[in-house]
Amino acid sequence: MFHYTSIAEYHARLQEASLTCVQAVEHYLTQIRSKPQLNAFIDVYADEALAKARELDRQRLEGTPMGRLHGVVIGIKDVLAYKDHALTAASGILKGFTSVYSATAIERLLAEEAIIIGNLNCDEFAMGSTNENSVYGKVLNALDESRVPGGSSGGSAVAVQAGLCMVSLGSDTGGSVRQPADFCGIIGLKPTYGRISRYGLIAYASSFDQIGIFSTTVPDAALLLEIMSGADEFDSTVSHREVPAYSKLLNGGEKYRIAWLDQALEHPSLDPEIASGIKQKLEALKAEGHTVQPEKFELLDYIVPAYYVLTTAEASSNLSRYDGIKFGHRTAAKDTDLTELYKRTRSEGFGKEVKRRIMLGTFVLSAGYYDAYFTRAQQVRQLLCRKMDELFKSYDFIIMPTSPVTAFKAGEKTGDPIAMYLADIYTVMANLVGCPAISIPLSTHSNGMPFGLQVMANRFDEVSLLRFSQQLHS
Ligand code: GLN
Repeated sequence: MFHYTSIAEYHARLQEASLTCVQAVEHYLTQIRSKPQLNAFIDVYADEALAKARELDRQRLEGTPMGRLHGVVIGIKDVLAYKDHALTAASGILKGFTSVYSATAIERLLAEEAIIIGNLNCDEFAMGSTNENSVYGKVLNALDESRVPGGSSGGSAVAVQAGLCMVSLGSDTGGSVRQPADFCGIIGLKPTYGRISRYGLIAYASSFDQIGIFSTTVPDAALLLEIMSGADEFDSTVSHREVPAYSKLLNGGEKYRIAWLDQALEHPSLDPEIASGIKQKLEALKAEGHTVQPEKFELLDYIVPAYYVLTTAEASSNLSRYDGIKFGHRTAAKDTDLTELYKRTRSEGFGKEVKRRIMLGTFVLSAGYYDAYFTRAQQVRQLLCRKMDELFKSYDFIIMPTSPVTAFKAGEKTGDPIAMYLADIYTVMANLVGCPAISIPLSTHSNGMPFGLQVMANRFDEVSLLRFSQQLHS
C-alpha cells in the first residue's frame, strides 16, 4: 500500500526498490477517480503521467542518477502554462486555449523529473477566496464537503489535502496559497515577490503575483522553492540573487525575535478561538526561549481597500488582452463591428466577479478618480513598506493569523463581496510589501475545521522563514 509522507522518504523507497513511480502514479489516479465530487482537477493527464513514470522507472533501474524531483507527482493550478496542455484560468474566455510554451517554474520542475498529473481548479483568473468563481464549478473542502476549500487556489489545496498528488502549485496575489492552505490544514508558502519567475503565470496583478507551493511538509516546500527560484531572462522582475539550498538549511534550534501586531490579534473580525490559539502559541514560543513582543500597528484597516484598489487596477489592464481576437473564446454573434465583437466576447466569456473587478479597476484608474483612489492606495502601500522595513530591523518574523475565520460554508459569502474581501485582511499585507509568508497548520477549531498560523519574514529571507517553519511543524 502506498502512503506518502515526504519526497525524501518516497525517494528512499524508490531506491530500495520497494516502490515504483508507476505504482505511485496509479495510486494517485485511483484516489482522483474515487473523489470526483471534490472537483479539484480540471484535467488529469493519466496516460502521460503513467508513460513518464514508466520511463523514469526504466532509467532508475538502468542506474541513471535520479533528478531531485524524480517521480514526484505534482498538480498545477490552471493559471500556469504547460506546453501543449489546455490553460484557461478557470474562465470561459480561455476555453479552447492550449499553451504554446511552459512556464519557467514548470520547466524547472520537469527538468528535475517531476510528473505533472493534471491541472487544478481555481477561482477565475485567481480572483476569489472560496473557489466558487470557477467556470468548472466549485471545489469542496475534503474535511467537510459543505465547506469551501478557500481560494483562489482551492483545487491545488484540496489536491494535497485529500492525497490526490504529493505537492501542488498555486499562485498568490493576496493570499491565494496561504488562505486555502489554512482552510485545508496543510502548508502554503508564498515566496518573496520576484523569487520565482512569473513567466508563464497568467497575470492577475503583476506587482503582487507570485507562484506558491502547497505541501504537507516543510522540506518538500523548501525543495520545490529551491528548484523553481532564480534568475530568468523571460521575467524582468525576477530577482538575480543567488538561490540558497533551502532544503539543506532547515535544521537548527535558533531562537528568533518575533513580533505580533496588536491590531491584528485584537481585530473584531478575528474568531476568538483562532485568537486564543495564536496567543497560546506565542506564549509557548516565548517559553521556548524566543523573544516574542507586541508591536503597535495602526494600518490594518487600510490594507484591504488598498489591495483591492491596486489589484483591480492592474487586473483591468492585464485582462484587456482577452478580446476575442488573440486567445480562446470569440462570440458567435455575426455582423458585429469590432467594438461590438469585443463587448460580446468579453460579456460572454468573463464571469461575474472578474467583470466586477475589471469595472472597479477601470473606475479607479479613470482620470477623474485616479488621485482619489489609485494614488492614495499607492501611498498606503508605501507606508506599509516603510513600516515593515522598520519592523524587520528589530524582528525576524511577524506572526499573524492566516484568516480571521475557518473555512466558510459554501455559498455563505457569495452574496456579499465586501465581506468576502474583508476576510483577506491578514494575507494581503505580504503581497503589498512583497515579503515571503507561510501558513502552517496550528490547531483545530471546535467546529472541526483546521486553522493555521501565518509567519511573515523580511524580503528574501526564506532561509530563516523555512528554518523557523520546520521548528513549528516538526
Ligand atoms: N482572495 C484574494 C482576491 O480575491 C486573493 C487572490 C489571490 O491571491 N489570487 O483577490
